[in-house]
Amino acid sequence: MIILGYESSCDETGVALVCTERGLLAHSLHSQIAMHRDYGGVVPELASRDHIQRVLPLTRQALDEARLTLQDVDAIAYTAGPGLAGALLVGASVAQSIAWALGLPAIPVHHLEGHLLSPLLATPAPDFPFVALLVSGGHTQLMKVEGVGRYELLGETLDDAAGEAFDKSAKLLGLGYPGGPALSRLAQQGDPAAFDLPRPMLHSPDLDFSFSGLKTAVLTRLKALEGQAGGLTESQRADLAASTEAAIVDVLGGKAIKAMKRSGLKRLVVAGGVGANRLLRQRLVDDMKKLGGEVYFPPLDLCTDNGAMIAFAAAQRVRAGLVDLADRGHAFTVRPRWDLHEQAAPAEA
Ligand code: ATP
Ligand code: MG
Ligand code: FE
Repeated sequence: MIILGYESSCDETGVALVCTERGLLAHSLHSQIAMHRDYGGVVPELASRDHIQRVLPLTRQALDEARLTLQDVDAIAYTAGPGLAGALLVGASVAQSIAWALGLPAIPVHHLEGHLLSPLLATPAPDFPFVALLVSGGHTQLMKVEGVGRYELLGETLDDAAGEAFDKSAKLLGLGYPGGPALSRLAQQGDPAAFDLPRPMLHSPDLDFSFSGLKTAVLTRLKALEGQAGGLTESQRADLAASTEAAIVDVLGGKAIKAMKRSGLKRLVVAGGVGANRLLRQRLVDDMKKLGGEVYFPPLDLCTDNGAMIAFAAAQRVRAGLVDLADRGHAFTVRPRWDLHEQAAPAEA
């Protein structure tokens, strides 16, 4: 069965074709990063308009790459939430319209389930069960994953997400949007031990996180350095970037390993944009080796938002019998706020 999938929850338009038996066939992607850069963040109205312009050319591109036509498609998947309402509506209405026109089922997908299952697109893919560390621009969660649709929340951030911590610190350091990759690049020239930044909640007994205090600590150090004679030097800026990255990675790594020990599981899966971070990857590889376990990541280009993970999550739900393929009603809604564990219920609309 061939599924055409759409992602448009934020600032990436993604389209993909996935076969339930053969896996990913093709995917096309357009990032709006350059368009939003001047504003220092995503402008929702511009995002929606750009999705509208990109979605059909990207559909054509994905079909061509897979050497398929719309007539070969058996179902249409789309991100139904969480995300920006206007942006979500573009993908949802395009997907539902195509499904209606072709008489196909439409499959709403939870964006985080897309991220969560994306490591299964890599080789080797992890078997269930595993612990997932979901680290994206809007979420930081540890989850126990027993199977498709069987997700237990172990802990999550009480305030900022890890990606947000990267982005906000990067902004303070005068780096562009989105700041995560830029901060990480600058950090390579700095000393991670130069500044003793806090590791919020690292030793708390739970599996929750808190990152909002970290950006305040970065701001305080920055102000002090800028106030000194001669101002902030380039090497101090790199040191502060490296120290920030080290603090975030320490907390993520520490809590992930605590979750592994508590669950008794041996497989850790990392998903979401921050999963592209080199230091985090290295740290988790080393720590899981010490624990006698294994860590799995999505392919590097599928860490941040993309259509492949949405079509793939839909395919996994179909295979698990969680989708009513006979349902051809095309009334739909999007859910800008939506908890993944709500979605975990076996019967889905
Ligand atoms: P959500 O999925 O929670 O709705 P999102 O879709 O915006 O949020 P993603 O696309 O998964 O999030 O990830 C984007 C985030 O990942 C940004 O905060 C970005 O800075 C961060 N990021 C990407 N690459 C890196 C990197 N190499 N190091 C650190 N952070 C990174
Ligand atoms: Mg994005
Ligand atoms: Fe995302």
